[in-house]
Amino acid sequence: MHPLKKTPLKMAALIRLMKTLDQQVAQCSRCGTCQSVCPLYDVTRSESDVARGKLMLLDGLMRAFFGRPKGVSERLDRCLLCGSCAKACPRGVNTVEIFLTARTVMAGYKRLSPVKRTFFRKVLANPALFDRLAEHGARWQGLFSRKMDTAPGASCANLVSPLLSHRHVVPLAPVPFHKFPAHAALTKNSSGVRVALFVGCLIDKVYPHVADAMVRVLEHHGAQVIVPDGQGCCGIPALSSGDSEAFDLMVAGQLKPFDPIGFDYLVTGCATCTATIKTLWPVFFKSPSESQKTTTSQISEKTYDIHAFLVNVMGIPPAGQPAFDAGSSIVTYHDPCHLRKTLGVFSEPRALISANPAYRFMEMPDAGSCCGMGGSFNLAHYDLSGKIGEKKAATIEAAGAGVVATGCPACMMQLSDMIARRGKNIRVAHAIEIYAEKLFFGDSSAKPI
Ligand code: SF4
Ligand code: SF4
Repeated sequence: MHPLKKTPLKMAALIRLMKTLDQQVAQCSRCGTCQSVCPLYDVTRSESDVARGKLMLLDGLMRAFFGRPKGVSERLDRCLLCGSCAKACPRGVNTVEIFLTARTVMAGYKRLSPVKRTFFRKVLANPALFDRLAEHGARWQGLFSRKMDTAPGASCANLVSPLLSHRHVVPLAPVPFHKFPAHAALTKNSSGVRVALFVGCLIDKVYPHVADAMVRVLEHHGAQVIVPDGQGCCGIPALSSGDSEAFDLMVAGQLKPFDPIGFDYLVTGCATCTATIKTLWPVFFKSPSESQKTTTSQISEKTYDIHAFLVNVMGIPPAGQPAFDAGSSIVTYHDPCHLRKTLGVFSEPRALISANPAYRFMEMPDAGSCCGMGGSFNLAHYDLSGKIGEKKAATIEAAGAGVVATGCPACMMQLSDMIARRGKNIRVAHAIEIYAEKLFFGDSSAKPI
């Protein structure tokens, strides 16, 4: 049987996507500006890893890829989807959108592995089941991990270490955020601004204290915080693997808990969730009904990163930063790609960190360079991810920082791993934690939220 006959994406849909790709790829002038900013090229020095190389591969895809889908797919997979190329491109080529569309075409032609399909469609698209599995994982993970002396929060798998390429894995939290007491009921002095918190999988299950800090800070500043039940994944793991069907399921599943009538703003503490909801939901949700389409675009318009929301919407912190205390810890900040490059958010987290006089803010060199995480890129290409991440860890060390803050839980995991690899004791924190310490712990950095 011809492969297209058994593909889950219908032939007509596949051809339509390929035509869109052909038009988008044609905008590239092959100038090569993207080469100088690509974190992958920086470690491989291979032109085929750069956006220009990938776009040349995709040029004439309809003619080329049926003969060698495996090679095309492998080349496309070697990408962090960091958006550095899109940000630097003088012609405004939306490379990330092109790569995601191309991955969808590939997955439609080749079919995804049954393991991935089942995970995305049956587990990630079913938040209640995913929550239960994560709770079991949290209960039994102690058998396979141990605490480390360095890099607080990181634990190193013993028995399974070789299977995990000797990663230093940040463990699941004993209690996920969705099991914390309901914060909405605690709201006092509400200013009337209703904020729905999109927690995100990693913050819920690995860094629940970050969500707790966000709720406390928002409530402190008078917002009414709503944490809707039934929330789950934003869909990016499925989309970046090309599983558009699973992505549609996940987005559709979030429209009910996040009915935009119930809130003024949707806020997240995850750079990737923010960028996905804001920029990818409206483009890649492929078969919405008219009302789903309207809801998706309303949610997207109301979505803010927590730092941008506090600074730009709520006007916090007020102008004029406090001087830092004598003996304050040095903190530096790593820019998540999806915040700085996709959404243009970079001054806001720095302003919130600098509002805490218990810390002295020190800019590191290349704070905007990618940490190498890239979601599934880290799983599939841990060697390359590690090479990129080690460079980042070295710059954090060079800044003399005792704390590195960032605005994305995936970056936090990668930074913890890379810092632990180097045997350093540098705390990895979310920028909102640093700001929350100022409000609730009298500027003492010694007390975590
Ligand atoms: S910078 Fe833009 S136009 Fe230039 S080669 Fe890269 S993608 Fe093409
Ligand atoms: S998205 Fe990032 S890793 Fe991928 S080609 Fe562009 S700059 Fe390189």
